[in-house]
This record gives sequence, structure tokens and C-alpha cells, in this order.
Amino acid sequence: MNTRRSANVLLQGALLVAVTACGTRESVEPTAALETAVPEPTTAVNEGSADAALPSTPCNAFLENTTTDCTPDTAIVESNGLPATHNMMVGIVSWQQQVPLPQAYTGDNAWRIPLVPELSDDPISGRDDLFRGAIALAVNGVPIFNALNNRGDDAYLAGELDHWGGHTGRGDDYHYHIAPTHLQEEVGADQPIAFGLDGFPLYGLTEADGSPVVGLDAYNGHFDDDGSYHYHATETYPYINGGMRGVVDYRDGQVEPQPNAHPIRPAGEPLRGAEITAFSQTGPGAFSLQYTLDGGTYAVQYAIADGTYTFEFIDPSGQRTVETYTP
Ligand SMILES: [Zn+2]
Ligand SMILES: [Zn+2]
Repeated sequence: MNTRRSANVLLQGALLVAVTACGTRESVEPTAALETAVPEPTTAVNEGSADAALPSTPCNAFLENTTTDCTPDTAIVESNGLPATHNMMVGIVSWQQQVPLPQAYTGDNAWRIPLVPELSDDPISGRDDLFRGAIALAVNGVPIFNALNNRGDDAYLAGELDHWGGHTGRGDDYHYHIAPTHLQEEVGADQPIAFGLDGFPLYGLTEADGSPVVGLDAYNGHFDDDGSYHYHATETYPYINGGMRGVVDYRDGQVEPQPNAHPIRPAGEPLRGAEITAFSQTGPGAFSLQYTLDGGTYAVQYAIADGTYTFEFIDPSGQRTVETYTP
């Protein structure tokens, strides 16, 4: 676990820098207390599973690299879309040359999770719909997309995902396509690792007490003893919530409203045969991604400073190509 631990420290640093660099807020301090009436408990930040008796709500379940404000019916969650406690990109063998950039999921572009989810009479299956946008939000503020990519293929089986179940989309936006079950170690088995955008919680591979999960429906959900509905992670498709079992607003293949990623450069093309072998922070607001292709080692080194994004592409001979973008 040493590798993982050092990556954790690294990425925590990266997150602080990235948040400052994107200029959306000065720090990643969690919101203090909830101003309005919300379902209990009323603490705004989940410190793990300190009080296992309390069921988590979207008002207290999100981790410290996010901020949450609750109105009576909605949790408004802000994040930059990057994980604070794990590395990214390593392990991807089907790559479209996108890299993780901090996103401004803030203000009007924040995540909105219903606090009183309702079962829908007309659920939406992810098998043939919801190929655009997120369908859930992990408790670390990273969006979760349909397990099937926008071509209808299983992104995990296609080798598109890193060791943590994520990759970057056409807007250089990092997101998961399978359940981030590794978050269970951080939050505890009795806490959700994500919430569907319909508001229902997504738990890990077991029930809160560690017992096996039985009786999941086509949406990877079922009812607990008190009659409330929740989703579970599974190790095979659909991995996450298999669609929207709850009521959502829907438009053009995605749940609305939801935050948008803001691309700062043209989308990349698939790079057949490339395998991402390393990713790290190399300085303030600076990152390095390494990949192999046809026996050679390539790097993409990129940095965000004063609103300008600079990308350096380095081939095996050491030749550098630079692109800059000022959105
Ligand atoms: Zn994706
Ligand atoms: Zn369950």
C-alpha cells in the first residue's frame, strides 16, 4: 500500500493547487453548518463512520474536498471533479488523449442531489439510455457516468478505465464509469460511496453490516427492512446504479440539470496501442502523464497558471511540442 499512500499525499497537494488555480474559491474548507432545515443529522461534513447509527444524507456524506449546502429539498454539492485521495489515469489501455483538469462544478454549475428521492413509475434504464452526462456523484465529488460509454460499450471491459475506475472525457473531465468501491475504506461499509442523481444512495458491495447483498433489481437497487430504496455497487455490469429508478428531470439522453465540464482544447482522438503508465503532480498546478506506445515512452506535461493551460508533448526522442490555451 506504500505506492497508494504516497499517491494520496501527492494528489491532495494537487487538489489544493488545482482549486486555487481555477480561481473558483480560495480554499477547500468544508461548509460549516447547515443554515436551513434539513433531514437530520445536521453536521455538514462526514468524518467517516464515527456515528454508525446515523444514516447518511447528501447533506453530510460528501468528503472534505467538496462543499455542501442544503436547501429543504436539495443538496448543492461543489467540487472540482478531481479525487483527493487517489491517483488517476494509470492502467488505461484505451485512451483518447484526454487528461484530468480541474472543473468548476460550482455556483450555478454545482451538483444538485434531491433530499427526498421518489421512486419513478417510469424508470430510465442505463442499458439503452443515459449515455450523456453523469448518473451519480461519488462522495469525493467525482461524477459517475453510465457503465456503458457513449458508444454503448462496457468502458471497464474495453480497457478505458484506470485502476480506480475512472478516466477523462472529451472536456478533460475526470469521471468514473464503475463504482469507486475503494472509497468504502474511507467512509466505512455502512456509508454510501455515491448518490444517484435521483437522490438514492449507492452503497458498496455488501450491506452496512457486511452481509451479502441479495435481491437487486435491474437498476442494482433494492429495499431495506424499513422500506427505503438504495443502490449497490456490483463487480459486474451494471457496476453502479443501472439507470434512474427515481424521479429525475430528463432531456436529450441525460439527467438535467447537471453541471457541465468546460473544455479548454479540442477533444483528442483514440491513440491505439497506448498504455498509460504513470501520472503525477510535478509542481504547483503542474502534472505529468506518461504512456508507452510501440515500445517508446511518451509524456504529456501540462500546467495551469494565470488562467493559461500549457501542454508539452514529449516523444521518445525528447522532441517537444507545445500547445497553450487561454479559455
Ligand atoms: Zn467516460
Ligand atoms: Zn442493500
